[in-house]
Amino acid sequence: MTSNTHTFSVLSIIRAFGIVAITNYAFNFTYSNIQTNCYPISPYSMKLKFILLFALTIIFCQLVAAQSRLKAIKAGKVIDVVSGTVLNQQVILIDSNTIVNIGSGLAIPANAEVIDLSHATVLPGLIDCHTHITSQPSGDYYGDIFRKTPMDYAVTAHIYAKRTLQAGFTTCRDVGAAAFIDVALRNAINAGEIEGPRLQVATLFIGSTGSHGDLNGFSPFLSFQLPKEMMGVADGVDALRKQVRYNIKYGADVIKFGAGAGVLSEEESVGAPQFSLEEMKAIVEEAKMWGRKTCAHAHGTDAIKQAIRAGVASVEHGSFLDAEAIQLMKQQGTYLVADIYNDDYIMSEYKRLGYPQKILDKEQLVGRTQRESFAKAVKGGVKIAYGTDAGVYPHGWNGKQFYYMVKYGLTPIQAIQAATINAADLLGWKERIGSITKGKWADIIAIEGNPLDDITLLEKVKFVMKDGKVYKNELKK
Ligand SMILES: [Zn+2]
Repeated sequence: MTSNTHTFSVLSIIRAFGIVAITNYAFNFTYSNIQTNCYPISPYSMKLKFILLFALTIIFCQLVAAQSRLKAIKAGKVIDVVSGTVLNQQVILIDSNTIVNIGSGLAIPANAEVIDLSHATVLPGLIDCHTHITSQPSGDYYGDIFRKTPMDYAVTAHIYAKRTLQAGFTTCRDVGAAAFIDVALRNAINAGEIEGPRLQVATLFIGSTGSHGDLNGFSPFLSFQLPKEMMGVADGVDALRKQVRYNIKYGADVIKFGAGAGVLSEEESVGAPQFSLEEMKAIVEEAKMWGRKTCAHAHGTDAIKQAIRAGVASVEHGSFLDAEAIQLMKQQGTYLVADIYNDDYIMSEYKRLGYPQKILDKEQLVGRTQRESFAKAVKGGVKIAYGTDAGVYPHGWNGKQFYYMVKYGLTPIQAIQAATINAADLLGWKERIGSITKGKWADIIAIEGNPLDDITLLEKVKFVMKDGKVYKNELKK
């Protein structure tokens, strides 16, 4: 650890001196040019040069100090999601964006910035495996569909990204966005241009003609002027393979498709399969060839089973599970990502938000059964990862689902594991995120109180660090 830090500091100092030297050279070069052009250098210019060099040196020294600064978090309690236990009085040492050590009584290096969370409970950054971070209902259902363009969504997406991060969710798997807005958002966050969670993005939701992924309930003469593939609608094995390639070509990290019908769309059914098994297998196989995992939107029992048989990494929603579906998920190691909070929001708010009655009727069919299915899956030992469908309800409320997961069968520590190590495993990032472990990225949050006693405390995250950078600290004394 220390040798790494030293190497880093030495390199930074060499870099800083290098820049100052180059600036000096540039100055001399400019002035010698001015001189050859017969402008004499005045004592005034020399003084200016000295002042500028001095200021630059100070700025770079400060930069060096900031860059090389180690961080040490003094944690009152740490939820160790790997062992499922609570550790007391821990020190977490962070170098740049990486956790370099954790333990009790660790020596804190003299040059480390100390973050005092000794009265708080510290957890790994939370992970939401099912978000639509680029949008949320505005209250004008038809306006959102017909009066907005992808540009409208693109200019507001960063607001939702920031809210999500501030809520303690340092990573999200975003499973469906229009016009590659999610790719632009992911890239801007990674470049440090805007604040938001680290994103794994699915880009276009892949659906069949007339499916949940298509635009239904309107005149056949109505269409959007987009490249055909940008609708994400494809039928048949060859077209679906091409659609997967198109999504990946323009930035998809993961492939999402609609195995069956949906709730928040105007096609008639809610549970029917919307791709054949052959089509689902083609999607999964093609995605795998390009090194991508696949997740399937599926409420209905047959759609769920076909998606599992096709080999998806996770079933999203999973509303109508039967014993065979649960057995299949266990056999294949398929994750269940069930959004069991948002029914409350849809039933209480969607009428006001202008959604048609037929959508509300569908939610009524699904909501309660989905929670019962979740409880059955927990009892049956299915792997559970945390995913909320944020975007169906306001971004930043991602933590509200913990309460429901505990109410419907998980222990508090299992609910936290669903949003940390399990989620990291589903994303294929378990070596990098999901626990406060040496070598992982420094994604760390803190709350007041013990979430194992009151899981709703995770709705009030007070401290957020992502990649070693502090984005929120309401625990400062
Ligand atoms: Zn969704």
